[in-house]
Amino acid sequence: MKIFNEKKINTTKIETLGEFGLIEKITKNNKLINPNSTFGVGDDAAVVDVGDKYQLFSKDLLTEGVHFDLTYMPLKHLGYKAVAVNVSDVCAMNGVAKQIAVGIAMSNRFTVEAIEELYEGIYLACKNYGVDLVGGDTTSSASGLLISVSVLGEVEKNKITYRKGAKKNDLVVCTGDLGGAYLGFQILNREKKIFKENPRIQPDLSGNDYVLRRQLRPEAGTKYIEILNELNITPTSMIDISDGLSSEALHIAKSSNIGITIHEDKIPIDYTVMNLAAELNISPILCALNGGEDYELLFTICQSDYEKLKKDPDFTIIGFVNDKSEGNNFIANDGSIHPLTAQGWDAMNS
Ligand code: ADP
Ligand code: MG
Repeated sequence: MKIFNEKKINTTKIETLGEFGLIEKITKNNKLINPNSTFGVGDDAAVVDVGDKYQLFSKDLLTEGVHFDLTYMPLKHLGYKAVAVNVSDVCAMNGVAKQIAVGIAMSNRFTVEAIEELYEGIYLACKNYGVDLVGGDTTSSASGLLISVSVLGEVEKNKITYRKGAKKNDLVVCTGDLGGAYLGFQILNREKKIFKENPRIQPDLSGNDYVLRRQLRPEAGTKYIEILNELNITPTSMIDISDGLSSEALHIAKSSNIGITIHEDKIPIDYTVMNLAAELNISPILCALNGGEDYELLFTICQSDYEKLKKDPDFTIIGFVNDKSEGNNFIANDGSIHPLTAQGWDAMNS
């Protein structure tokens, strides 16, 4: 008896497309049929017209073993981070997060107390960001823990900021500092390895509080959105830095149909990150370009907004927008120009 129809077996491996190639493939024929679905796939959050304002809608899924490692990630921090990364996507649209729904799937290795600890972090983030937890879903998984958070936010219609609005001659701005989260990850992995080889050696995390915090408990850029509002600046484009500066700059460039040039000497890097990178023999600039998970905001502004922003230490102007035909470039400290690629600048591979 044949139960299934015989079918040609297709064997295209996901890695041949990569994350963004796959998203493009599965969404390219997607048509929005509701007139109030203003913007769908392709930005940090979807946009729904709800009358006076736009509603923002986004989701991020974290899976054990891929996005977090419970050997060193305290569950409370994980809960906090799961909310923060979603709030960050709403910030990237120049919006304010209001509600979240949380889905969890867990294997039978998790205890009630463990899940309660996770929720302590979730509730703390909700309190800090002024967000209400309004629902979710709870189920079991064959192995490991999965956390899926959906977030709703809102933004004034005239303030909404997409990835697609950057214009030639705009300035490229970055909030806070970069590279720390990647170094935090390196430290945690180093100590995990040592611990695995010899469980009697206690992890040495001393003196690395800043980078560990950047990795384990990142903050969404809500304060930057408030400051921009106070300064009366609406960026022309914006994205949050989840995958590294290069990758995000390229997303803005592609969506806006322009090119971006970034100056190495302008990239903001905390002195603790500088020192630790030197100690670990890693280039701090590559940490910033490719590391990811800093959850800072990358945006572009009209040159006429420069005066309003220039004195605020929260923001650093790191480059400018050029014509698409001039490409995406990285100007190194020695003045040499390199194409900006998703893996950083080409010198990394040389
Ligand atoms: P971000 O890093 O800002 O969370 P992603 O890179 O995860 O954004 O996703 C890029 C875009 O693709 C977003 O608009 C997101 O909503 C959309 N997207 C991602 N995965 C899927 C999917 N499986 N189905 C439909 N849309 C998706
Ligand atoms: Mg994002």
